[in-house]
Amino acid sequence: MKPQHDRPVNIVGAGLAGALLAVLLARRGFALDLYERRPDPRSTEGERGRSINLALAARGIVALERAGMMERIRPLLVPMRGRMVHSLSGEVQLQPYGQRQDEVIYSVSRADLNRVLIEEAARHPRVRLRFRHTCLAALPETDTLRFRDEADGRECAIPMAPSIAADGAGSVIRSSLARGGLLGVREEWLDHDYKELTIPARHERHAMEPHALHIWPRGGFMLIALPNTDGSFTATLFLARSGPDGFDSLTGPEEARALFESQFADAARVMPHLREEFAAHPQGRLGTIHTRPWHSGGRVMLLGDAAHAMVPFHGQGMNAAFEDCRVLESLLDRHESWDTLFADFERCRLADTAAIAQMALENYVEMRDTVRDPVYLRRKALAMELERRFPDRFVPRYSMVMFHPEISYAEALRRGAAQERILETLDDPGAAGKVDFDLARALIAQQLA
Ligand SMILES: Cc1cc2nc3c(=O)[nH]c(=O)nc-3n(C[C@H](O)[C@H](O)[C@H](O)COP(=O)(O)OP(=O)(O)OC[C@H]3O[C@@H](n4cnc5c(N)ncnc54)[C@H](O)[C@@H]3O)c2cc1C
Repeated sequence: MKPQHDRPVNIVGAGLAGALLAVLLARRGFALDLYERRPDPRSTEGERGRSINLALAARGIVALERAGMMERIRPLLVPMRGRMVHSLSGEVQLQPYGQRQDEVIYSVSRADLNRVLIEEAARHPRVRLRFRHTCLAALPETDTLRFRDEADGRECAIPMAPSIAADGAGSVIRSSLARGGLLGVREEWLDHDYKELTIPARHERHAMEPHALHIWPRGGFMLIALPNTDGSFTATLFLARSGPDGFDSLTGPEEARALFESQFADAARVMPHLREEFAAHPQGRLGTIHTRPWHSGGRVMLLGDAAHAMVPFHGQGMNAAFEDCRVLESLLDRHESWDTLFADFERCRLADTAAIAQMALENYVEMRDTVRDPVYLRRKALAMELERRFPDRFVPRYSMVMFHPEISYAEALRRGAAQERILETLDDPGAAGKVDFDLARALIAQQLA
C-alpha cells in the first residue's frame, strides 16, 4: 500500500514522539487517527511522578524546527550551560557542556511540551484525536488493533495497516508482535531505580543557579536536578534497587531524610517536602530495550521508546525519538509503499539508536562517578583545547551527541573511541600541563578522517 493519503494512518500513543509525528505527517497532508490512553492534556493536569522535565538538545530542536514548532516551544525552555557538580562538602563547580555560546541544552516540562504538540496536531482538520483509548493488543492474525474506550469500557477493533506504534517503553504493540513471533525483544533492566522529587521555588525564584544541570555524584549513586520555568527544580534520585545503599534500605521517609542530610546536605536544606514526596512518589525502573525487526511488513512499525527505549543518562531518549520522526518524514518521498518505507526507516535508525543506548549507559558511570576524577577533568580540558585547535576534526563526544545533529550517533560513538585513544596518548600527568600539539596534529590526521 502506498504511503499516500488514501486511508488514515493510525498513530498509537500521543506522547512526545506520537504527537510530533502527527504534526509532521499532518503537514504532509496525511489523515491521521491518534490514539492515546490518557485523558486529553489540554483539559487535565499533567501526569505526576514520571520524569517531569527533560533535557532538550540539538537533535530534538532540529526535528521541532522541521515541524515549525520552535517558536511556540522556546518560551518553555530554561537553558543549562553545564553541569554544576556538588561535592560532599557542599562546594560547587560548573563544568561547561561546550565552549561556544550556543552550546547549551534546555530543560523543558514534559507535560507542557506534550500539550503544545497536541494542540498543534489538533489544529489540522485531518487529525482525529482519540483520548482515553487504550490499545489492548495488535492482532496480526486478523490484521487489527484492539482498543478499549475508557469512557464507557467498550472495546472495538480497527484495521491495522498502516499503524505507527509510539506507545512508549512498555509498548503493548511490541509485546503483541513479539508474542506472535513477528519480532524479537531483549530487555536489559538496570539494577538502579529512580525517584522524582521537588526543590520548590524560594520567593518565586530558583533556590540554586538556574542555568545548569545540578549533579551530586556519589560514586554508586547520584542526585540530579533540572530547572523549571516557575522557579522550582525537579530532582531525581538514582539509587541501587537493593543493597546497603539501595532503595530497599530506605524503609521510610526518615531514612530518606537521613540519606539526604548525609549525602546531599545542601539539597536537603532546600527540599522542605522531602519526607512526604519520598513516601508518595513512585519508584521507576530503567532499562534498555533492543527490538528487531521494528515493523511487520507495511502493517505496523515501532518508533521512539517503543522501538529503542534507553536509560536516561545522556538525556537523549526524547531527542532520539524526535530524530526518528524527522528521519521518517524525510524518507516519505523515496517510497512507494509502507512496507519499504518502514524497512528503510529501520535500516537508517538501527545502528544509531543502538549507539546512543550504549553511550547512555556509559554516561551513567560518568555522571555519578567520573565527573569527580582529576584524570577525567584533565582530559576534558585537553579535549576542549584540541577542539579549539582542530575544530573540523576533533569534537568531544558529548558535544557530537548534544550539539551536532549532522553527526550520527553511530559516527559519534566511532569517532569518540578514536578520540579517547588520542587523549590517552597525549595526556601525560608528569608534563605539568604541557601538550605535544605536533603529535596531536599527526594523530588526529591519522585517526580522524
Ligand atoms: C527519569 C527519566 C528521565 C528522562 N530524561 C530525558 C531527558 O532529559 N532527555 C531526553 O531526551 N529523554 C529523556 N528521557 C527519555 C524520554 O522520556 C523518552 O525517550 C521519551 O518520552 C520517548 O517518547 P515516546 O513518545 O516514544 O514515549 P512516551 O513519551 O512514553 O509516550 C508514549 C505514549 O503512549 C501512550 N500509551 C502507552 N501505552 C498505550 C496504550 N496501550 N494505548 C494507548 N496509548 C498508550 C502513553 O500514555 C504515552 O502518552 C527520560 C526518561 C526517564 C524515565
